[in-house]
Amino acid sequence: MMKSEGKRRTRRSWAEPYKIKVVERLNIKTREQRETAIAAAGFNTFLLPSEDVYIDLLTDSGANAMSDRQWAGMMLGDESYAGSDNYYHLEAAVRQYYGFSHMIPTHQGRGAEHILSQLLIKPGDSVPGNMYFTTTRLHQELAGGTFVDVICDEAHVSESDTPFKGNVDLDKLARLIDDVGVSRIPYFCLHATVNMSGGQPIAMANVREVSALCRKHGIKLFLDATRAVENSYFIKLREPEFEHKTIAQILLEMCSLCDGCTMSGKKDCLVNIGGFLALNDDDLAERARNLVVVFEGLHTYGGMAGRDMEAMARGIEESVSFEHMQARIGQVEYLGQSIAEAGVPIVRPIGGHGVFVDAKKFLPHIKQEQFPAQALAAALYVDSGVRAMERGAVSAGRDPKTGENRPSRLELLRLTLPRRVYTQAHMDVTAESVIDLWDKRHLIHGLKFTYEPKMLRFFQARFAPVGAAQVLDDVGASTSDVKQRLGSLVGGGAD
Ligand SMILES: *Cc1c(COP(=O)(O)O)cnc(C)c1O
Repeated sequence: MMKSEGKRRTRRSWAEPYKIKVVERLNIKTREQRETAIAAAGFNTFLLPSEDVYIDLLTDSGANAMSDRQWAGMMLGDESYAGSDNYYHLEAAVRQYYGFSHMIPTHQGRGAEHILSQLLIKPGDSVPGNMYFTTTRLHQELAGGTFVDVICDEAHVSESDTPFKGNVDLDKLARLIDDVGVSRIPYFCLHATVNMSGGQPIAMANVREVSALCRKHGIKLFLDATRAVENSYFIKLREPEFEHKTIAQILLEMCSLCDGCTMSGKKDCLVNIGGFLALNDDDLAERARNLVVVFEGLHTYGGMAGRDMEAMARGIEESVSFEHMQARIGQVEYLGQSIAEAGVPIVRPIGGHGVFVDAKKFLPHIKQEQFPAQALAAALYVDSGVRAMERGAVSAGRDPKTGENRPSRLELLRLTLPRRVYTQAHMDVTAESVIDLWDKRHLIHGLKFTYEPKMLRFFQARFAPVGAAQVLDDVGASTSDVKQRLGSLVGGGAD
């Protein structure tokens, strides 16, 4: 044992397991330009041109940096209409690392969700899952189904520090089976990690139990494998049985408990576009191939170029590296710790793909009907040019049957980290801005809709501040006018 007394430092840091070969210049706008830009974007960070953004933490989706090996693979794209080499490489990678026998490529994750939902859901069916995801639930609803949330209660409590907040509550699932009967449950949709609860993982022990219950009742189990590699890393760290297993072994075991998966390659697979549906059932795979040609493209490209499939095949292989995951999750952890140490309320434990700030606690003076997380995202952008996004009442949307706003216990600002893109210094700039806003939080005002789209409203909705001296409905106001009134949104002050 080394003693720490008398020694200079015993801290040993991890560092990124790569070095930088190509750089991309960032745009830095003035505070005044940012005030004008956010007003023109209707206070929705999704509507900002990326040119106006400094550090882009809107999402980890498709924003990954590819490796030199992936870029080299792009040059090996075989753009034949049918039977491209790269299709076979991708199929082999999916079989090797995810273990499913059939791989049907799609343009991205929602393409796979669409096909799975159309194949299996009948009107009136219930589809259980561990918390909704926006596109997943919408495709279930468009197919006539109703999503039923059976995630454990702790998932909805931001300060609950349990290690596997993505776990399914087996009693809730058993109750649903009793209530509606197995014939009305086409499949279970299992998310790993759970995006909407803050990137929280599920335990392998829980996947085993869900799988056993589903198999007992003949219910199919589909994994939303979008971030299943990140989930596997958490299992290795937190579930003693898996301490000495590789991430690849854990991922394979998790998949072996499921009947198939939908995948957004834009996350774990380290690419900018792409996805797939993977299945074991020969007959279902054949029906999926019949549908993919209608909606996506031929079953050997499904909306992707050959080069994209090659990049994804190589990205899958890179994604299961321990060093990669340690740096990936380590960076999220670093940002989260920096913010939390200043007393800012964040979702605990820190999740896989981002830091989730509890906007209800951050802005207790703003009612949830006035969208505190949305308001915080706008204020953060004005303060520093960091783009984050809302995951709360706006994202939850309206119930399609009643038209009422869906209740959302969580009201979160999501700082999402693209993989391998930003440095520790970018994390410092981000944390300092969040902490500055925390110190002047009482100056931030709520928002109200000026335009509300019917579906997936968070993408394109527009807002205006409320509670400020004067409500800003008319985005056409002159710049100085806008600036004067916006000053109250984020406390004005010096740049
Ligand atoms: C991103 C995502 C999807 C949808 O994938 P796209 O590639 O954006 O279509 C589905 N599920 C989860 C958990 C996601 O994060």
